[in-house]
Amino acid sequence: MKDFFKGVRRHIGKLDADHLRTEYARLADEAVSLDTLFMTIAQGIIVLDENGEIVKSNPAAHDLLGMDPADALGSLAVPLGKASKREMDVTYPEKRALEVQTVPMDSGTLVYLRDITSERERTEEELRAGATRAVRDLAAGVAHEIGNPLNALSLNLQLLKRSHADDPEIEECIRQVDRLGNILKGFLQALRPSKPNLAPGYVAEPVKGCLALMKQQLEQRSISVTLDLHGAIPPVAIDKEQMEQVFFNLVKNAMEAIRDGGAIDIDISSDDNDVIVRLADDGLGMEPEQVAHLFEPYRTTKSHGTGLGLMITARIVRDHGGDIAVESRPGEGTTFTIRLPRLERRIRALN
Ligand code: ADP
Ligand code: MG
Repeated sequence: MKDFFKGVRRHIGKLDADHLRTEYARLADEAVSLDTLFMTIAQGIIVLDENGEIVKSNPAAHDLLGMDPADALGSLAVPLGKASKREMDVTYPEKRALEVQTVPMDSGTLVYLRDITSERERTEEELRAGATRAVRDLAAGVAHEIGNPLNALSLNLQLLKRSHADDPEIEECIRQVDRLGNILKGFLQALRPSKPNLAPGYVAEPVKGCLALMKQQLEQRSISVTLDLHGAIPPVAIDKEQMEQVFFNLVKNAMEAIRDGGAIDIDISSDDNDVIVRLADDGLGMEPEQVAHLFEPYRTTKSHGTGLGLMITARIVRDHGGDIAVESRPGEGTTFTIRLPRLERRIRALN
């Protein structure tokens, strides 16, 4: 349709009345069929103008949200003019998982809503059934067995490093052993996700833990990291180890997306319901198509990537009762936002 308009604009001087009438009729037909599609499609569509006001929305958007889209806009918190993707759980009129995607347009933003309740169940089911139980246990067993000698290697390498400070070959061995360790960890987690061991705590702790763990790598690449805490951040129910894994995955991805000398900004705040962690990098960013498939397993753009990091990350966040969202623009950077329900809200919800 865009091309059609461009064509008409280019040739409008040459088009005679008859010609224009035919083109107009064709366009009118197309508009009617697009409108029918818009009104009947199962996916929810909301069109926003540059100021974020609703231009139009379809009945499916209303059904999926369980309310007038205008009343839901606040909690959808869609970023304007950016590609983004987010999964959220809605409880009304029934408990379902929704995918919210935005696509930037010339004169506004398109919001696209999809019910992914059964798809999510299916993906997890497929992943579980992907290997038969026996093969899976065998693989997990082998992976576990590799873990022990790997730990020993790592320890010995650290000792060697002390007596041979700055030996580049030892440094390289340490890096490779670390990499193997990470692959193993990801593999084991993907095979056997463990439910989080939730206890009251502060989300800043695993963030700081992860940054301490990665300090050396970040310094080596002159990547600056800021951590801002806005006011007194209330506690959440948290499995510190798993949450550390979440931030490790996100910071690692950010590091891999930015050039030396880039920046990672982490910001922790809270509202009436949630504690909110935003992690922004000024790296490569992603195309809207890439954002659309994020959090799906085995989607990697890296030659050494596993494409499991974000899937595991999203699962851990969900197991904490929270949600994770991403916004990105190619060439500008990427921001991940994690929301975890405030502890007192969770306790209220359980009573
Ligand atoms: P892996 O890092 O092994 O590729 P992930 O699940 O962690 O797997 O990430 C999947 C893909 O998402 C990456 O390959 C990359 O293309 C993209 N990605 C993730 N985080 C970022 C980011 N901060 N900036 C740009 N691209 C990212
Ligand atoms: Mg990764």
